[in-house]
Amino acid sequence: MTNLETTFIHGAIREGYADKKGAVNVPMYLSSTFHQQSIDEFGEFDYARSGNPTRNALERAIAELEGGDRGFAFSTGMAAVSACFMLLSSGDHIVITEDVYGGTYRFVTKVLPRFGITHTFVDFTDLEAVRAAVKPETKLIYIETPSNPTLGITDIRGVVEIANDSGALTFLDNTFMTPLHQRPLDLGVDVVIHSATKFLSGHSDIVAGLVVTRTPELSDTIYFIQNSFGSVLGVQDSYTLIQNMKTTSVRFNEEARVAMKIAEYLEAHPLVEKVYYPGLTTHPGHAIHAAQSTSPGAVLSFNLPNYEVAKKFVEAMKIPVFAVSLGGVESILSYPAKMSHAAMEPAERAKRGITDGLLRFSVGLENEDDLLADFAQALEKAAQP
Ligand SMILES: *Cc1c(COP(=O)(O)O)cnc(C)c1O
Repeated sequence: MTNLETTFIHGAIREGYADKKGAVNVPMYLSSTFHQQSIDEFGEFDYARSGNPTRNALERAIAELEGGDRGFAFSTGMAAVSACFMLLSSGDHIVITEDVYGGTYRFVTKVLPRFGITHTFVDFTDLEAVRAAVKPETKLIYIETPSNPTLGITDIRGVVEIANDSGALTFLDNTFMTPLHQRPLDLGVDVVIHSATKFLSGHSDIVAGLVVTRTPELSDTIYFIQNSFGSVLGVQDSYTLIQNMKTTSVRFNEEARVAMKIAEYLEAHPLVEKVYYPGLTTHPGHAIHAAQSTSPGAVLSFNLPNYEVAKKFVEAMKIPVFAVSLGGVESILSYPAKMSHAAMEPAERAKRGITDGLLRFSVGLENEDDLLADFAQALEKAAQP
């Protein structure tokens, strides 16, 4: 049994594409259609929406990495999320974590109700509240852990038990951890979803989504939806993602190591009111996270006193890109209230701790002393009246 670091390097070519000519990289099959040998005998591939050898290699690699039955590559993370919701039908009900990704929130609140699919948002750090929200028509419990942007932790095993008692499926958005550090299918989750735009691609170059299913029945249904819905990942982006995923462990582990240093630095700083990072023992989900994951990750959030201080801080930071998104080799500083969670009503934002002083930081691969010095000088400027 090989370790995941090794599978990240060799998975696509070994599991997905045995090249008879010996290429060490999966070739790009820029072909929309495939020649068939005879009128009644078709080959493995016929049309690239239904399957393409480059995309297939990526799909087999992610299935292997998550320990699932089958993998699927989509054009974006939201295409992956939306395709999975298509497992549901009119009349079905979803129990979903209240601090879910902003795009998922928008889909669940603005699109699914038009198809007769209802939802209840719940604080998933409270398992009793999750159990209480389940109705006879609940078909899905939707988890995101650690969550965005306040890094809330859901007890995955606990939610799976509730779902098993009620006959509902569980989906888990694993974007913040990658399979390297969290394998939800091993804990009984049914479907794992990734925005591969983030840590798996890791270079802020492509948008992509991945899905892995636990059972052959779910695989057949998701395959049927993927082929019907049609939002597959293109060949060149599939190639880029295969290449970028090879370095996931060195990137993620170094970024997480420095994230811990920055979290400790911020926690000790007088201007910072609160730090959200599951690696800190002061984080309420610290123990649960450690029991289901092997890294606290490379994203942290922190509270400055108000909008004015946050604005001064953002303007003074020199190294990070000030942008939406996360998981790149460059550090990314973002302001959730006006960026990732702008689609959410102010009252809903406040309930989730997304205040006007909240900032999120995704740690990149810059030198750790340079990053800490940048924080120090920016916080000093932000503290000035
Ligand atoms: C970015 C993100 C998504 C959406 O992915 P896209 O690739 O932007 O469509 C979903 N979930 C989480 C946790 C994300 O960070």
